[in-house]
Amino acid sequence: MNLTQISLAKSHFRELKTTKEEKQVILSSLENQSARSTERILAELKPETFKPIETERPVRGDKIELTLTLDEDQVKDLEEIQRLMGKSMTKLELVKMMTKLTLESLKKEKLKTVGNKRKTEVVKVKTDIYKTKREAQPALRSSERSRYISRSTIREVRERDGSRCQYIDPLTNKQCEAIHHLHIEHKMPFAKGGSSQDVENLELLCATHNRLKAIQQFGHSKMSDYIPSLRD
Ligand SMILES: [Zn+2]
Repeated sequence: MNLTQISLAKSHFRELKTTKEEKQVILSSLENQSARSTERILAELKPETFKPIETERPVRGDKIELTLTLDEDQVKDLEEIQRLMGKSMTKLELVKMMTKLTLESLKKEKLKTVGNKRKTEVVKVKTDIYKTKREAQPALRSSERSRYISRSTIREVRERDGSRCQYIDPLTNKQCEAIHHLHIEHKMPFAKGGSSQDVENLELLCATHNRLKAIQQFGHSKMSDYIPSLRD
């Protein structure tokens, strides 16, 4: 590490409360990085300060005011749809139409899978009755895979992990002590086939280690697709 990196890291640590373990992890992730990418990695670790992307508040009657923040590109896409629809349609009408269409198609999909399930469920319950709960869950078909983590699963993972970050520093073998800003993390990433239902595939990580793990798992280049500030 060069002097520029050291002074960048120092001012980062001064600005944000960082544990000793976190410092080690951060420093090791800075090795062999340019000054520019050092700045980016550190910026990425800072808590997000921008406004929430979605807000909801009740207004008169039974109406709710929903505020969305979209990228310029997304707004352009909306305008492109407006243009292609060929009639003067407001964005509100467009959203209403899209909601209706999406809902209809999702309901149709749901009916299909429920229909398929019913045929096999009765048999399954009988044969699986003596197996443990986890074994009894039928393997999810790819169409049924969901990223959604249920409340009860979240509770189970939180209790098992003692509401503490599960990251263990490979150098010191010490567990991270963070107990705030914890995220539920897929050990095997969802995108690579990891389950969101199996508690064994889930663990608690603090924001720093959550990001560190994502960077390690998907590699710097892949993450930069999602985190523009990582791009060189
Ligand atoms: Zn941590």
